[in-house]
Amino acid sequence: MRNYKTKGIVLKSMNLGEADRIITIYTEREGKVAAVAKGIRRTKSRFGARLEVFTDLNLIIHRGKSLDIITNANTIDPHLGIVSNLDKINYGYAMLELVIKTAPEGQTDARLYQLLAAALDYLNKTDIDSGAVLVTFNIKLLAITGFLPNLSVCVVCGDKDKRTVKYSPADGGMVCGGCRASGREVFTVKEPVILLAHRLLYKHFVEVEAVPIEKRDVVELARLLRFHLAYHLNIKLKSEAFLE
Ligand SMILES: [Zn+2]
Repeated sequence: MRNYKTKGIVLKSMNLGEADRIITIYTEREGKVAAVAKGIRRTKSRFGARLEVFTDLNLIIHRGKSLDIITNANTIDPHLGIVSNLDKINYGYAMLELVIKTAPEGQTDARLYQLLAAALDYLNKTDIDSGAVLVTFNIKLLAITGFLPNLSVCVVCGDKDKRTVKYSPADGGMVCGGCRASGREVFTVKEPVILLAHRLLYKHFVEVEAVPIEKRDVVELARLLRFHLAYHLNIKLKSEAFLE
C-alpha cells in the first residue's frame, strides 16, 4: 500500500523550500514520521491551520521514495486551550520534546500515541497545575519505553528500609547501603516523592485531580525523572531550562 491512514499528533513543523513544510508527527500506526505538507504556506492552502503543533489529526499519508507526503488531514482536536495559554504551551512543548527525543525512528508504539493524546486532551481543559500533568506524562512515558526507575525497593536485594535506600541512576533505581557499588553516585529521595510517583503511574489523567499533590514533591520527582532520562538515554532537553 502506497497510502496509509492513521491518527497522529503534530510535534514539530519546519519550512521547506518556497511553500512547503516538513511536519513531524507521532502517528498511531507508524510511530514518528516526518512528512511533507505541499503548498501549506500558500494563502489558499487546503490544509489551512490544520497542521499546527499540538493538533491531533486523522491523516492520509503517501509513502514517498525519500519523504512521505501528507495527502489529507482532518482535525480531531486542535487543543486550542493549550495554544492560548503561555504556561500550558511551555509544559506542552516539554511533552512533545520528550516524545521527539525518546521515540526511536521507525518503531511503532500505538500506546505512545494514546498516552500523548490523553495528556494533551487533559492539559487542554484542566485547571490543575500543569507541572503535575507533565510529571504524570513523564512517568507513564518511562513505563511505556521501559526506562522506568524502580523506586520501591533496593533493586539488588529487595531491602525496603527508607532510611538507607537511595536512588542510583547507574543502577536504574533504588539501592541500599549494603548493595551500593563504590564510586556510584546516589541521591536521597524523600518518601512523599516516591509515594507520588506510584500514585501518578497507575492513575488515568482525569484521576490526577484527586491525588493530593504538594508542589515541591512534583518539582523533585520531575527533576529525578529528567536526571534518569538524561543518564539512560543520553538526551538533553531544551525545555529543561524552563522547567528548572
Ligand atoms: Zn540492597
